[in-house]
Amino acid sequence: MYQIETIQGDITKVRTDCIVNAANTWLHGGGGVDGAIHRAAGPVLGDACAEYVREHGLLPTGQVMHTGGGHIPVKGIIHAVGPVYREHLPDESDRLLQACYRNALVLAESLQYGSIAFPNISTGVYGFPKDRAAEVVCSGLHTWQTENWTFVRRVILVCFDDVNLAFYQKSCS
Ligand code: ADP
Repeated sequence: MYQIETIQGDITKVRTDCIVNAANTWLHGGGGVDGAIHRAAGPVLGDACAEYVREHGLLPTGQVMHTGGGHIPVKGIIHAVGPVYREHLPDESDRLLQACYRNALVLAESLQYGSIAFPNISTGVYGFPKDRAAEVVCSGLHTWQTENWTFVRRVILVCFDDVNLAFYQKSCS
């Protein structure tokens, strides 16, 4: 059982064992939350991501990988590639978005992290409707909540903008 918290803020400033990045398939850092995380972590993060892609290739949509935190005071960063909303049928986008959260939770558990902070993956440039994303993510988090999580105790949903905050407060409480 983990508890779910919704807060507003900058994910690079949250005190947690790990943060999740809304990465792209090339892992090369972009705008939005991805850019903020790469800037705060420093060039060591870009180097680690480039090395991962050299060894494993691109990270597919819905999948996750992890790196150290660089200058961000966390134990690790989990990079998840959210769906570009218009590239899939809506149901498939829902499934891929849930896969990001689910796979990140499972990876955090295997790394023995006690807390994990998520941004609102895909709701920026990737165009996922914010109300729909909040419903899909919160329904997944509620469904998985009662599974046997030995390490993960806190799931923190970090909303940057007021619109997401309102939707998450409604769907996740
Ligand atoms: P995507 O490409 O997955 O849509 P974006 O970074 O464009 O990713 O947007 C995802 C969400 O991240 C948006 O809702 C945006 O408001 C939010 N965001 C942007 N900067 C930050 C930040 N520093 N901390 C937390 N969330 C952020």
